[in-house]
Amino acid sequence: MTPILPRRHQRQLPLDQLILAQEPSAEALEMDVLFVGAGPSGLAGAIQLAKLVKAAQAAGSSMPDLNIGVLEKAGSLGEHNLSGAVINPRALRELFPELKDTDFPFRQPVSAESVYYLTEGGSLKLPTPPTMHNRGYYTASLCEVVRWLGEQAEALGVNIFPGFPAEALLVAGQTVKGVRTTPSGLDRERQPTGSYQEPTDITAKITVLTEGTRGTLGQAWREWRNVGSENPQIFALGVKEVWQVKRPLDRVIHTLGWPLPSTAFGGSWMYPLGPEMVSLGLVVGLDYREANLDVHVLLQRLKQHPLVRPHLEGGELLEWGAKTIPEGGFYALPERRSGDGLLLAGDTAGFVDVPSLKGVHYAMQTGMLAARTAFDALQADDVSAASLATYDRLVNESYIVQDMYKTRNMRLAFKHGFVAGGARAGLMTLTGGRFPGGRIPMHEDADQPRSVAATAALAPLVPDGTLTVSKVDAVFKSGNATRDTIPQHLLVGTDVSAEVADFYAHLCPAGVYERVGDELRVNAPNCIDCKATDVLGPRWTPREGGSGPKYRLM
Ligand SMILES: Cc1cc2nc3c(=O)[nH]c(=O)nc-3n(C[C@H](O)[C@H](O)[C@H](O)COP(=O)(O)OP(=O)(O)OC[C@H]3O[C@@H](n4cnc5c(N)ncnc54)[C@H](O)[C@@H]3O)c2cc1C
Ligand code: SF4
Repeated sequence: MTPILPRRHQRQLPLDQLILAQEPSAEALEMDVLFVGAGPSGLAGAIQLAKLVKAAQAAGSSMPDLNIGVLEKAGSLGEHNLSGAVINPRALRELFPELKDTDFPFRQPVSAESVYYLTEGGSLKLPTPPTMHNRGYYTASLCEVVRWLGEQAEALGVNIFPGFPAEALLVAGQTVKGVRTTPSGLDRERQPTGSYQEPTDITAKITVLTEGTRGTLGQAWREWRNVGSENPQIFALGVKEVWQVKRPLDRVIHTLGWPLPSTAFGGSWMYPLGPEMVSLGLVVGLDYREANLDVHVLLQRLKQHPLVRPHLEGGELLEWGAKTIPEGGFYALPERRSGDGLLLAGDTAGFVDVPSLKGVHYAMQTGMLAARTAFDALQADDVSAASLATYDRLVNESYIVQDMYKTRNMRLAFKHGFVAGGARAGLMTLTGGRFPGGRIPMHEDADQPRSVAATAALAPLVPDGTLTVSKVDAVFKSGNATRDTIPQHLLVGTDVSAEVADFYAHLCPAGVYERVGDELRVNAPNCIDCKATDVLGPRWTPREGGSGPKYRLM
């Protein structure tokens, strides 16, 4: 059978809807600096900026307070944030020098760690690769970290707007002037209902995009301003569960191998979140080869493995969620992360180091560097691209880009499969990233053909409802209670055959896509904004505020 080429079935981003050369409405809210996305990046940036103003005022400056805004699409802070997470506290320490590590909203320090290679029934303990050492770091729930950062930001006078997704950039010439938010209260035909609220325009001298992975406005801005990168960005999908457990997990565990096919890149984690909870998840690179690979199903299989099962038995699944991770590393960083009136920080710009699975402190640190740049630019009354380019210099000179340079080819080495990649990655570690020299070129995930022939090979998973769950039950555990009648926000491409419908059904962890006969059915309200199909299938666009998951523990 002919393989599926995802790109052939994908639509372009609707730039005419995402970049609006329109005057802001007369009632527009006016901000000095607006962060789009209240994740660690946007909130750390907002806090840093507010602290810089306070410090300048305390030092005798007559500068007035700045209007700092943070927009968030989730109904309340933290509900759309998901991570492992083991967090490097470096950026938090820098942002809050007055606090101790014990003041931060971590769950526990990492005291021991193990790495295993799994086969279907067995496991082999491996030496922990240097890039995966986590001693000195802390396990945490990103939702809790985000809620805590939100409280710190509000105490400093930052304006936080949860439930307000930015739908488009407002521009004049080449300059970004702010954003327009989504309307709410539309029906499926986009007609206003009784609860209709029109979009709000928010202007800002500087807009900082901190939308997280596969940010829609960031993609649109880069396409519009033609900002490329040496390699295209690539992504992985992570599916995560939080369990209440009967006995404490005594270490951080990572696994490689089963249940992934040898052609796929990825692995699993188990992190203790205090004595009674465990975070567990599986990450798979979206350049996988088999059209029927299903990350949710693979995670359900993983839980039945003899290494994992005993930790969960007798416990309870508390929460489920999924999200993509930008995995391209150093060579996928945009050639510039600044423009007229605009900065890009955190995952939306790709600041993630995949070999160590770390992004939280890079997201915070880039948000903080964006804030320092914005502070100086406002003082100089110059928000041009030339002035905001300071941010690129600060990031390039920081530990962020140094770290990412050292591991620049490690993920890319796995593009030909796990075995060849493992050997090459070992040599890269030994040589501090110098082997093999140069850049390993990469193609976009959507340009990787998917083999359909393998589709019949796997026996279907029959969830038992306790240890293993269906996608429908999983979405329930994400807290998703999106209104059933909101307009469709997923832009399905053309020529979607029955095989492509099956491919989307496997790809989406939340059961949004179903093959019904030979047709694709789209259950859009199930969507939990992981963005996987934005990478390989129907494009994701911002929808009514408060839609999507309601994570508490992710
Ligand atoms: C499965 C998984 C495991 C991971 N494990 C780890 C780990 O153990 N350690 C680690 O350091 N890192 C880890 N990471 C990476 C880390 O979570 C990210 O790098 C980090 O969260 C990025 O922060 P951010 O602020 O850029 O984006 P996010 O945390 O994604 O926040 C972006 C925010 O923007 C909001 N938003 C998006 N679009 C809009 C819009 N249009 N309008 C308004 N709001 C919008 C989103 O709702 C979200 O709240 C992991 C990631 C995943 C997915
Ligand atoms: S439809 Fe939503 S939940 Fe499903 S893959 Fe796409 S973004 Fe993720």
